[in-house]
Amino acid sequence: MLIDSHHRVHNYLRISLTDNCNLRCFYCMPEEDYEFTPHSRLMQPEEIESLAKLFVDNGVNKIRLTGGEPLVRKDAADIILRLAKLPVKLTLTTNATRLHDFVTALEAAKVSSLNISLDTLDPDKFNIITRRNNFTKVMDNIQLMIERNFHVKVNVVVMKGMNDQEINDFIAWTKDTPIHVRFIEYMPFEGNRWTSNQVFTWGEMLEEISGKYKPIALPGDVHDTAKKYKIEGHLGTFAVISTMSSPFCGACNRLRLTADGKMKNCLFSKEETDLLSALRGGQDVLALIKNSIASKAKELGGQFTKDFEKIHTEDLQNRSMISIGG
Ligand code: SAM
Ligand code: SF4
Repeated sequence: MLIDSHHRVHNYLRISLTDNCNLRCFYCMPEEDYEFTPHSRLMQPEEIESLAKLFVDNGVNKIRLTGGEPLVRKDAADIILRLAKLPVKLTLTTNATRLHDFVTALEAAKVSSLNISLDTLDPDKFNIITRRNNFTKVMDNIQLMIERNFHVKVNVVVMKGMNDQEINDFIAWTKDTPIHVRFIEYMPFEGNRWTSNQVFTWGEMLEEISGKYKPIALPGDVHDTAKKYKIEGHLGTFAVISTMSSPFCGACNRLRLTADGKMKNCLFSKEETDLLSALRGGQDVLALIKNSIASKAKELGGQFTKDFEKIHTEDLQNRSMISIGG
């Protein structure tokens, strides 16, 4: 088992397949020109499989593929099918633009739940946020995945003054559509120009929703990052991921592997452990994994506290979200 010095058991691995993406969400990518990692420096399918197997042999039972956009990788279906052979619950976070080409592979891999990012229901605002014109494709693919009986969660990064006025539009969408909307508090990463006054908190979200609906809290699992709610009579549900105003580090069970094979023991960790070079060099990878877990900070990568108004982004040492893998 992979246990850290705070007695937390780690059974959930998020693997980034690439830092490349066909969208340019401003909150995820650095402002300045970003160079995607060349293919030769990315983990190759058999390397992803070997590393994933090592984690699974040591207690991991859930794997999420992410990125960048995992489905821009030409060998994404191959990777998905390889990981499907492991005894894990396999899931994916995607911007949905390419999902139509992967339905068969996802069904064959028995992936039953997907997280899809969509921050606005307004096509013009979609173009502003993502700097690309793919709104219709994303909506069509969300519909397609619902029709194919996938459990669809929709990730919405809520940013004050950008899309906070749309929260109740998303709730209205859950009335007759079986989607599970997850409102995410805006987080700081390298180059994303985050400022604390753009954070729209869990409390503010509930206040906004309660002005129009009566949210009912749903029971959750100890490892849940999302506080879940339902509205009576709605087919879908909603949840809030309150990383900034109310972090959930106490029961953290998550580990991350970047697309270039670096292990991060926390989304906000400064340190990285190069598992890919170790694998390629025939070194003891498991010992490196255990060392990394042993050094995991108690909360928020040891970089800030839940008093997020006091964060100085220039002091944070981390990659951009697109190169960590969200
Ligand atoms: N391309 C895929 C997608 O967009 O779903 C997967 C990668 S993306 C980095 C994973 C998740 O991270 C997305 O739901 C995205 O909205 C979220 N994300 C990116 N930057 C963020 C930020 N600054 N604060 C909160 N969530 C963020
Ligand atoms: Fe790409 Fe996802 Fe980041 Fe948007 S959030 S730029 S879709 S990786």
